Amino acid sequence: MEATIPKPHLFIDGEWIASGAGEQALINPATEARIGSVPHASAAQLDSALESSERSFRQWRRVSPYDRSTILRRAADLIRERSDAIARQITTEQGKTFAEAKGEVLGAADTFDWFAEEGRRAYGRIVPPREYGHRWLVMKEPVGPVAAFSPWNFPAMLSARKIAASLAAGCSCILKPAEETPSAALAFAKALQDAGLPNGVLNIVLGVPDRISTHLIRSPVIKKLTFTGSTAVGKHLAKMAAEGMKKATFELGGHSPVIVFDDVDIDHVVKILLPGKIRNAGQVCIAPTRFYVQEAIFSAFSEAFAKALASVKVGDGLDTQNQMGAMANGRRVDAMQRLVANARDAGARVLTGGARSGESGYFWQPTLLADVPDDAHVMNEEPFGPLAIANPFRTLDDAVMQANRLPYGLAAYAFTQSARRSIDVAAALEAGVVGINNLTVSIAEAPFGGIKESGYGSEAGQEGLEAFLNTKFVSEA
Ligand code: NAD
Repeated sequence: MEATIPKPHLFIDGEWIASGAGEQALINPATEARIGSVPHASAAQLDSALESSERSFRQWRRVSPYDRSTILRRAADLIRERSDAIARQITTEQGKTFAEAKGEVLGAADTFDWFAEEGRRAYGRIVPPREYGHRWLVMKEPVGPVAAFSPWNFPAMLSARKIAASLAAGCSCILKPAEETPSAALAFAKALQDAGLPNGVLNIVLGVPDRISTHLIRSPVIKKLTFTGSTAVGKHLAKMAAEGMKKATFELGGHSPVIVFDDVDIDHVVKILLPGKIRNAGQVCIAPTRFYVQEAIFSAFSEAFAKALASVKVGDGLDTQNQMGAMANGRRVDAMQRLVANARDAGARVLTGGARSGESGYFWQPTLLADVPDDAHVMNEEPFGPLAIANPFRTLDDAVMQANRLPYGLAAYAFTQSARRSIDVAAALEAGVVGINNLTVSIAEAPFGGIKESGYGSEAGQEGLEAFLNTKFVSEA
């Protein structure tokens, strides 16, 4: 296996394995063409990944955080060197523009660097003992072999967070990337292998998601589960984790509100919101979705935002002229069709978009719906597409009530020039991450995660490392 961007393989105990118990087609969503095939792991291959993960954990936990850090940093450098090729492959498998894919890969390399450093700071503490001559120590230790599941919308970043944090903490990791977008995670495995990672510390498996997660989570080898994906699947996996009393981190869906007060500069705010909405064709768990706009500027804002969305150039992400690429799969286009039709029936106005774009490929026009009733499906179900909703509000309390009305609690945003409103709204929003006058809420050095049905636990930041550590109290006399 010489290529720096491996073709879809299983990666078990340092071996690149081309076939298993079946396969599925890999599709380019911009052309709908078959571009390869993805092997499915057999039960025996999953057992061998578990065995390798258990064995390598015993060795890796004894490697010093300093030496682990050196390997992770070397891998980060290799990922940067290979970023153009990895990004091109992400665009081809997932649809996002090359510029976005490249930014994501560089962000993933940063994440490896962050955890390489943070792993060296997995400090415990000394507690003053009650008796002279005793020692009371709080120790941090790796939890053990991890089962990690990353989705198709950010195949590089969301794999990196799970791999880098678990390895930095001293855990071994079995990752199942999404079968639709396996290459970024495999490219990271290759970079880590080239950087000197011992065999088995990272294994990558692919296959039927439920079969793999059930096999891995039920195994006594696995001590921790980390999953990014939909709330429905998260709840299913949380029950399995609970049966084995396993630690778990869940980063699930969202339906982010954006409160726009009447004191803002509309053009400036639209300039910030547009790239946030069309990024990755809206398939982002923190995408701004429900825009609550104060009455006095509702018409002007909706008009300006609709105009900006209508100007977006949509097409193949490999063509650098295009600002928004294809949606990742046909399921997302079907969902857009269903949600827009239902909103129309419920009385919503379509201010722009609302239809497929192009003759082939999974393209959808950037869409703005206005005056959407609360019982329309799109007001309650995560659209996960280039679809925004604008509804008016009167007072801060009304807006906050609307923003908090869903069971989701991932990201929430507000735009205002008033310090008083900023403080009040940041305190009142029920969300794990809040952006005031900007959308930057997901970075390596800050904790990221939701509350309510958006999940529990944090990825990134100090908390992202802590999630892979056990706390042990040692009392020495
Ligand atoms: P889905 O719910 O079937 O899959 C979501 C992700 O979970 C995929 O990556 C899939 O491979 C994985 N998955 C599914 N079943 C699994 C199982 N039993 N065990 C382990 N992994 C499993 O549906 P989908 O059509 O791929 O996506 C639909 C919805 O999922 C989206 O509308 C969005 O709400 C949500 N989603 C959220 C994120 C996120 O970043 N939080 C990412 C991808 C999808």
